[in-house]
Amino acid sequence: MYHVKFYTGEYSTRQRAANQDKCTAYVEHHFNAATATANYVVVITGANASSTSKTWGRSYAQRISDEFKVPMGGSRGILVGGWNGRGNNNLKYTHMPAILLEPLFVSNPTQAEWVRSEEGQNKLAKVLADSIIEYFPGGGLIGFSVGHKYKTRRPHDRGAAVYGGGTEADYAEIVLEKTKNILETYDPAQQYDHAPDNLDEEIYMPHIMVVKDNQEIWLHTDVDEDDEVMWDEENRILYITTR
Ligand SMILES: [Zn+2]
Repeated sequence: MYHVKFYTGEYSTRQRAANQDKCTAYVEHHFNAATATANYVVVITGANASSTSKTWGRSYAQRISDEFKVPMGGSRGILVGGWNGRGNNNLKYTHMPAILLEPLFVSNPTQAEWVRSEEGQNKLAKVLADSIIEYFPGGGLIGFSVGHKYKTRRPHDRGAAVYGGGTEADYAEIVLEKTKNILETYDPAQQYDHAPDNLDEEIYMPHIMVVKDNQEIWLHTDVDEDDEVMWDEENRILYITTR
């Protein structure tokens, strides 16, 4: 039910191509870099972001915060419009919910170790996939953009160096590839192994009720969705017809 497409080229080109394809959602993946002790998760949204982008971004940041025990940066996990505008151009052309991820600091040796490890990459991919499944349960085409990499005019940009080896962009790409794999093999039918029993009945029991002055005075439960219930306004009669 999900398909993932990677967009390349200049950032504006990627976004316009995603618009053309009518992507359901768009994600650009980076890692943050500053000092060795820098420690927080933040998600960038465009200055023109919809409330869906903002709540989705906050939800992703919260999941990262819970999974890796890192504090939330920005305003409850998000920076609208980026760092004084940096990051805004990466998202502002999109016509669909779009977020730019900065889940961990690759300048922080502990966090860089997570980024470089398969276990850490799997966690990052699962958090992202879970957040997409939560916010876009209907599936569709998800657009991915690897930060820094595959730009036309600066083809050698790979972003920040990762403590211990490697680059921000190469690890972001690994995480996005793993996320793609989770999404494209996702089967909602398999998610209900532990579904609550009789969930439908708990939520809705067909019935017909008469209420007088906010008091229930008559309740008829021997009725189901296939019965025909018709109120005859002229004669003030409620007809229930079972077939
Ligand atoms: Zn970056």
